[in-house]
Amino acid sequence: MELIQLDTHTWVVQGGANIGVIAYEGRCLIIDSGIDKDAGSAILKQVKKLGLAPTALLITHAHADHTGGAHHLVRQTGLNVYATRVEASVMASPLLEPLYLFGGAAPPKELQHKFFLAKPCLVGSILAGDEQVIDQIPLEALSLAGHSPEQVGVAFGDTLFVGDAFLTPDILDKHRIPFYTDIAAGLTTLDMLKQRVSSFAHIVAGHGEVYTSPARALQAIEYTAQCLENILEQTRAALVYGEGRPTSHILRAVADARGARITSLSQHALYTTTVQAALSALYARGEIHPLFEGNFLLWQRQK
Ligand SMILES: [Zn+2]
Repeated sequence: MELIQLDTHTWVVQGGANIGVIAYEGRCLIIDSGIDKDAGSAILKQVKKLGLAPTALLITHAHADHTGGAHHLVRQTGLNVYATRVEASVMASPLLEPLYLFGGAAPPKELQHKFFLAKPCLVGSILAGDEQVIDQIPLEALSLAGHSPEQVGVAFGDTLFVGDAFLTPDILDKHRIPFYTDIAAGLTTLDMLKQRVSSFAHIVAGHGEVYTSPARALQAIEYTAQCLENILEQTRAALVYGEGRPTSHILRAVADARGARITSLSQHALYTTTVQAALSALYARGEIHPLFEGNFLLWQRQK
C-alpha cells in the first residue's frame, strides 16, 4: 500500500480500496478500512509512519472491501467508528450483505468469501450524513446514496472523499454493469457531485486513481451517470414490444447489450441487484408495472 500526501492535513493510502486520512489538531480520522486484517494493519503502519495515532474511523458504505479491516483497526487502537444507520447495521451483522445479495435467503458459499463477508465491527456513532464536525474535526459529511443505500462522503478543505459514488472509466468498462441498489438516488448523487466537484483540488474515489483535477473527476462522474442512463434505457429496450418479461430475461438483455458475461453466482447476484434497481426506478416513474401470469412475475411497459 502506498501513502500519498494530498495536502497539509490529508493523505490517501492507495490499495485495493483507497483509504483516506485526515489529521487535524491532534485528531486523526481514517476513511474506510480496506478488505481484511492485512489491509487494516497496513493502513495502521502507514498512519503510524506519519507519527499519527488514529482516533476515529468513518466508513463510507458497508461493502466488505471497505469495512473488512475495521475489526482489526478497532482492536488495535480502540478508535471510534462512524457510519450511517443502514451501513452500521451491515457492519454489526456482516451476514446481511450476502443475505441481501441472495434475496434474503441463506446465501450459498460462493457469496460468503471475504469480498462479501467482512468481520463484524460495532459502530459507536451513527451518522445522519449531514454532519459538520466528526471526531472534533470540522468537515462536511455528504449523503451519496445509490451504490449503497446510505453511502456518505467527506469534504475537508480542498479534498473530497466519495467512496464508490462514481467509478473510474476503466473500472466501469471492466465491470460492465456497476453495482447499484438505487439508480434514481445514484443519479441525484452524481448530479450533486457534478455541481460541487470544481471546488476541490483532490477527489478520492474508493478505487483507482486519485484525481488532482476537477475536470478529470467530472469526466468520470459524467461517464458513471451515462452508464446508469444506458442501463435504464437498456432495461426499457428489453421491454420494447410491450410483452411482459421476467427479470431473468431483462437481466440477459441488459448483460448482452453491455457485453457482460455472467459465469458465477456472485456476478449474477451483483448484476441482478443493479437490474432490479433499474426496474424499481422505472416502476417508481410509472414507466413499467409488474403483472403475474402463470406463476411468473412479468414486467411490462406502460402503454
Ligand atoms: Zn462499494
